[in-house]
Amino acid sequence: MDKFIYVIFSIVLVYIIIIIFSLLKILKKKSIKKVILFDVISFIILLGIMCICYYSYNIPTIKLRGDKIVKINVFDNYVDAGYDVINSSKNMKVTVENNVDSDKVGIYDVEYTIKHFNKEIKEVRKVQVVDEEKPTIKLLGETVITLGIDSKYNESGYTASDNYDGDITKKVKVTDNIKNEIGKYEVIYTVEDSSGNVFSTKRIINKINDNNGVIYLTFDDGPSSATSKILDILKENNVKATFFIVNYSKWYEDVVKRIVDEGHTIALHSYTHNYKLIYSSEEAYFDDLLKLKSKVKETTGIDANIIRFPGGSSNTVSKFNKGIMTKLVKKVKEEGFHYFDWNVDSKDAGGAKDSNDVYSNDMNNLNKNRNNVVLIHDLGHNIKTINALTSIIKDSKSKGYTFSKITYDTPMVVHGVNN
Ligand SMILES: [Zn+2]
Repeated sequence: MDKFIYVIFSIVLVYIIIIIFSLLKILKKKSIKKVILFDVISFIILLGIMCICYYSYNIPTIKLRGDKIVKINVFDNYVDAGYDVINSSKNMKVTVENNVDSDKVGIYDVEYTIKHFNKEIKEVRKVQVVDEEKPTIKLLGETVITLGIDSKYNESGYTASDNYDGDITKKVKVTDNIKNEIGKYEVIYTVEDSSGNVFSTKRIINKINDNNGVIYLTFDDGPSSATSKILDILKENNVKATFFIVNYSKWYEDVVKRIVDEGHTIALHSYTHNYKLIYSSEEAYFDDLLKLKSKVKETTGIDANIIRFPGGSSNTVSKFNKGIMTKLVKKVKEEGFHYFDWNVDSKDAGGAKDSNDVYSNDMNNLNKNRNNVVLIHDLGHNIKTINALTSIIKDSKSKGYTFSKITYDTPMVVHGVNN
């Protein structure tokens, strides 16, 4: 406004000079009419200049209160900070156009407009509606899981949600570094929302050695005069075992029944245990096996389906019939049998001189990281085995081993086939 006063002052001054100049002309007896015409024209021109100056110096402006760029979180209410109109002689009407949709992420303009004569004067404020909130992932099931070394981790599920995107479970990326070794592993869940906010969480998987060493005592070649004593020891120590039996006379029917009655597994070894005969052909093998199977069925009512090849599946005594074992291991499985070899040999049918040998052959070869299938023989003259059995059971238990009998669900423990 100060400048405007100077302009008015200058114009008035110029006009006074014109008036003085006019008066001087009148004194010099110039035509009064012409002088007045000159003055009127000068007056109109100066008035025009004055109007232009008034217009130019009096343009109103809008001054925004607060920031010109405003950031708000999505779903928050947008409250405009307001404005002031500068250079306005009167209360000017300001039109505010506010298109901010605070429910939707984006950049919006708030426009403030005033009309000055025919000219629009505008000011714009930028409003950024942003989503800076991270999504969340909710893990279903335990967040710390303990598994055995060989156990497979099964994902127990998760859900992910975002304040803006809603359910984003499908966008979750899952990675893990789980190995079949003892250790601490992580399953990492990461999700990113549509605004680029990232959230990550994890589940801990502890892989431990959960196989405390199961021992499957397996007695071959019985029943015998030793079977009752073996059953007594097993009963005293509350241990269940597996008996791979051979043909038996009627005197042994009761002991075969007792094996079953006391909760042990009755399994098939061979009717004749005659290598030359049973490995002469597939047919001969199955004749022998099925003969024993029906006998056991008759005695006990049980359909025995666990078997052990005489000499084991790795035997070389069958070499006289090339490839017979390769055929038999395939065929017995096709016929619905599970065959078991052993991974601990007590050598009580040869090699072990006394009960100490039997004991150490067993104890030294037990391994807590596996199922231990122990080969022992149920033979009448096998005193060293009977003498070692109680110590083997008691000492194994005190070392944390547990005993079990072989069932159809027991993972097969087999040798490599050599013929
Ligand atoms: Zn045998």
